[in-house]
Amino acid sequence: MRRIKTGLNLNLSLNLVYMEFKTSGLYIHIPFCLSKCQYCDFYSVTSVSALPDFLHALLKEMKMNGGRFNSFDSIYIGGGTPSLLSPQQLENILIGVNENFHLISDPEITIETNPGDLNRSFLESIRQSGFNRINIGVQSFDGNVLEFLGRRHSVKQAFSAVEASRRAGFDNVGIDLIYGVPGQDIDSWLNTLRQALLLSPEHISCYQLTLEPKTPLGRRYRAGELIIPGEELQYQFFMKTSEFLEGAGYTHYEVSNFARKEKYASQHNQKYWDHSPFLGLGPSAHSFLSNHRWWNHRSLDRYLASINAGNLPVEETETLTMEQLRLEALYLGLRTKKGVSLKGFKNQYRCDLLTEKKKILARLEEEGFISVKGDRLHPTLTGLAIADSLALI
Ligand code: SF4
Repeated sequence: MRRIKTGLNLNLSLNLVYMEFKTSGLYIHIPFCLSKCQYCDFYSVTSVSALPDFLHALLKEMKMNGGRFNSFDSIYIGGGTPSLLSPQQLENILIGVNENFHLISDPEITIETNPGDLNRSFLESIRQSGFNRINIGVQSFDGNVLEFLGRRHSVKQAFSAVEASRRAGFDNVGIDLIYGVPGQDIDSWLNTLRQALLLSPEHISCYQLTLEPKTPLGRRYRAGELIIPGEELQYQFFMKTSEFLEGAGYTHYEVSNFARKEKYASQHNQKYWDHSPFLGLGPSAHSFLSNHRWWNHRSLDRYLASINAGNLPVEETETLTMEQLRLEALYLGLRTKKGVSLKGFKNQYRCDLLTEKKKILARLEEEGFISVKGDRLHPTLTGLAIADSLALI
């Protein structure tokens, strides 16, 4: 195995119409899972027969996109289940990235994994080939919840996966957890958080379960078979989570995300929250550059057919107006603890928030959802809890 080479290359894209210089993030969607979890709305197929074709197409897609973006300082291999690939296949992806894109030295390179797939030899190999951050889809330390969600791993495997990651040399380990599962109470959720702390992960993501209409759980909900926690209970889950993890030394830096130290906050996900450019490769992956957003076919067959015909596998593109960019930047920025820089906002979006949104900001501040300190507009904890509604500014 060889570690990928990285080099400094500040090749500014001329397309950055509205943006100050920001480095880009690269997302690669691996569209395969061994089985579908009951709540999952991400695009993936459960047969791996097309995996070799996909890997071949992915390299072609990289070539087609070479030169469109400036330098990348984060690479995120997500899915689907990237840990279904062999270490060699994963290394080949990183080699392809290195050959086709400019990388800032020491980029954050994350892989999303399923606890059941992780063993020491796999982990040591991928660590050696350049992955320096691992995200493990633990979801719960309660066996009944794992079964309900349709996960294919056990609590024991979740513990072993984190421990094996440490032994393989990963010093930036993140775990994903889900709360608000039907039948779950605050105590049992806090118990999952207590188990998580035993492993001292550098990063913890706590997502509220959402029942997407096309998923098995969404269908059961519509059929009246499931009762999910109401708004008040969801709010309590959110507040208790924040209180508990902040009390344990984690910073609640985004609606669903907690980091043990600032340096462990996800560099890649920050791109989505601060309107940095990002390129998404693979079926269903989204990209954003300047005032354009586009997304790939949400079908492996259509993705492969496009690439094999020599075309970018883009399903649709949209161009955002300045007003749309402003609203989005505000909505995304207010999902993060650091909030929005008033000066930065004015420079980038030509809008003085304190003048143009004076009334509404005053009202939100009075109601305790935001606070203005110096140059920054921050959400309060209550503001973070209702971050989706703050978009209505
Ligand atoms: S492993 Fe992840 S991507 Fe695959 S079905 Fe489960 S939640 Fe969805």
